[in-house]
Amino acid sequence: MAFYQCGFFRCATLAALMGLSAARCAAGPGRMPATLNTANITMGGVAYTDARVFFSRYGFKASWTADGHGLRFQSAKVRIGIEAEKRDAELNGVRVVLGDAVVARGGALYLARIDAEKLFAPVLNPAGVTAPPAPVPRVIVIDPGHGGQDTGTQNKALHLNEKIFTLDVGLRLRALLLAQGYKVVMTRTDDRYIALPERAEIANKAGADLFISIHFNSVEGSSMVCGTEAYTMTPQFQRSTSTPNAQRDAGDVMAYPGNRNDPWNAVLGYHMQTRLLGKLGSVDRGLKRARFAVLRLVNTPAVLVESGYLSNNIEARKICTAAYRDDIAEGIAEGVRAYALAITTAKTR
Ligand SMILES: [Zn+2]
Repeated sequence: MAFYQCGFFRCATLAALMGLSAARCAAGPGRMPATLNTANITMGGVAYTDARVFFSRYGFKASWTADGHGLRFQSAKVRIGIEAEKRDAELNGVRVVLGDAVVARGGALYLARIDAEKLFAPVLNPAGVTAPPAPVPRVIVIDPGHGGQDTGTQNKALHLNEKIFTLDVGLRLRALLLAQGYKVVMTRTDDRYIALPERAEIANKAGADLFISIHFNSVEGSSMVCGTEAYTMTPQFQRSTSTPNAQRDAGDVMAYPGNRNDPWNAVLGYHMQTRLLGKLGSVDRGLKRARFAVLRLVNTPAVLVESGYLSNNIEARKICTAAYRDDIAEGIAEGVRAYALAITTAKTR
């Protein structure tokens, strides 16, 4: 998926809105005021929370890494790793990309409160999410990326078009989800162009409980890059993964339809990336955040899966096999099952 093809949002009025962004971020993701105690601090207009204090609420024991730059947190079933000045973190063996780099201050490591409360909290304790209600998946919309004149990314040497593989995997996934009793709606079932807003509209009109957009990736200049990544909507007041740490985008302060489900997006993205990696054994490129058009505009929890790199000839040749595309579809279906289990468990507590 090239960004322009998939509706990546940017705005040139960033500088004018930086002050507004900072002020609102200080108010916090949960509109909580920054306090004066050392567990919650504000730096550069961003509210942070002491990671040890935050994770201790979930029963985690903390230990420093040997170099003293990172903290490891361990509970009975979950392990978490964070590093000073890094946006990369680990959640149960899966790479998750934070919106703000971890800050070292006074012998402690601090997480942005948006990362703590919109990523870790819902994943660690879905039952603690009070709003919006847990949307138990019954109607699932599958969105095979691209189509028609929009080929998606290409591997010209191997004569591969992304749009062919997204549809193929989408149809395989449809069969799996139908067999599990879900109602499935496809944004396309043949090689046709569907505009990005129309894809979201199809999901919204169908009353979808879950939206899954399927893509394949590419990178220019290096055929060595490979692996799998999952995107969910960037939380309000947070920067997207592709935005550098020192930068804010105008869209950061906006509340889009896709932000209604910020906590469930995190739960969905985590389970999807975990199960896909488990099925494919591919390189973990992380759970990432973006304001792609389809993620912005849907009313339901949504994930966009970048299944693998067509620009990497080794991975592309795997994708060319029906067996590997079956694995991708099964990995996504397993992600749906794990997410649904988390949702139903949360509702019954
Ligand atoms: Zn794509």
